[in-house]
Amino acid sequence: MRITVFGTGYLGATHAACMAELGHEVLGVDVDPAKLAKLEAGQVPFWEPGLEEVLQRNIAAGRLRFTASYQEAADFAEVHFLGVGTPQKKGEFAADMKYVDSVVETLAPLLSKPAVIFGKSTVPVGTAERLGRMARELAPAGDGVEVAWNPEFLREGFAVKDTLHPDRLVLGVDRARPGRAEELARGVYAQLLDEKIPFLVTDLATAELVKASANAFLATKISFINAISEVCEAAGADVTVLADAIGHDERIGRKFLNAGIGFGGGCLPKDIRAFMARAGELGADQALTFLREVDNINMRRRTRMVELAREACGSLLGARVAVLGAAFKPDSDDVRDSPALNVAGQIQLQGAAVNVYDPKAMENSRALFPTLSYSSSALEACEGADVVLVLTEWKEFKALRPEALDSVVREKKLIDGRNCLDPEPWRSAGWIYRGLGRP
Ligand code: NAD
Repeated sequence: MRITVFGTGYLGATHAACMAELGHEVLGVDVDPAKLAKLEAGQVPFWEPGLEEVLQRNIAAGRLRFTASYQEAADFAEVHFLGVGTPQKKGEFAADMKYVDSVVETLAPLLSKPAVIFGKSTVPVGTAERLGRMARELAPAGDGVEVAWNPEFLREGFAVKDTLHPDRLVLGVDRARPGRAEELARGVYAQLLDEKIPFLVTDLATAELVKASANAFLATKISFINAISEVCEAAGADVTVLADAIGHDERIGRKFLNAGIGFGGGCLPKDIRAFMARAGELGADQALTFLREVDNINMRRRTRMVELAREACGSLLGARVAVLGAAFKPDSDDVRDSPALNVAGQIQLQGAAVNVYDPKAMENSRALFPTLSYSSSALEACEGADVVLVLTEWKEFKALRPEALDSVVREKKLIDGRNCLDPEPWRSAGWIYRGLGRP
């Protein structure tokens, strides 16, 4: 099939490359010429394991191209995926819909033949119906243009696997106007459906809410264990052992129960806020007030991490602090709302010299926090440090051994903001090891 993908960021570039991998002819569309130039040259503009190979293989096979031209895209296909950003509005909880709206406003007037726009971005419930009206009004093909919603659940760091082998596919269709969306989606995902990947077809509002609810649940699970970790700290208990013990209960499950400095990134924080804002607009304000607490618990972990660093140094004024990790999670270079960089920034504001190292996120970190100092290795970042903070659980940091750092640091003090290290070897080597929610 011929497919376009609007937006070639983390979601869109992955989706475009993976749809070509499934054998479709794909045209990726973006407004950022620098991003397009990289993609056309077979370079992924961000770090995502395995994606560059898929991109290059499909460009070489002639199945994958990129363009800035909406006209070319409109002429190219009848299946259009929409994967542009929906960031938090400045000073508000609500999502900024200007990028999503602009795609439909620009694309629809060029659609002279029937087409389906499949939204993938995470949007406030009601968006698909609104965009459907807009598209039908603006398109020369009128009612021949449909809008359906196919929310995306991929995780950065596992994006290729999650796109080619998702846990499930969800498709919201306009029940009031039965059209071709389901049939075309079944064609696009035929290979995945043959592999018996669950395919749930719903109305538009349910599909939009599935995504918002999934993210709200994940955020809640993380904040739950972080709240328990606050109690563990007060009581002298160990939250990692507790998480293992409650995680054995299948109703609870061990995943997403890792206490630490909390969640960040371009999705969970802004998605739970947008969900609260939308529920308020719909008159269901009370329903999601607990998400405000989920957000508060999450932000409090960052402050707690700063406090622990201050306690370790006596005062942060004039202290040297090594920060290992800047990405919001390992195997990604994404630093949007990264807890690690937020903590690094707060510590610097309190007068410390902060040295940051991350295996993949250095360029993005420098762009966002230009006043922090950056080192080219973990060892270099730790030189002369009064305390070492592990803030992203990269494999490289989990593999660190105290012997490697013993002679480099000024004080043998380590705070593990992700509870990802085994305290024992560090303590045996004379280090003061602190985890979050651990004695
Ligand atoms: P991103 O910022 O990495 O990418 C957005 C892209 O859209 C950019 O390349 C931008 O240049 C492009 N764009 C903006 N306006 C455009 C326009 N008018 N026409 C064409 N392109 C345009 O964002 P992302 O992380 O890929 O997220 C996109 C959406 O997917 C968001 O709604 C997000 O919540 C959702 N989502 C993201 C992930 C993830 O892991 N990143 C997972 C699931 C869902």
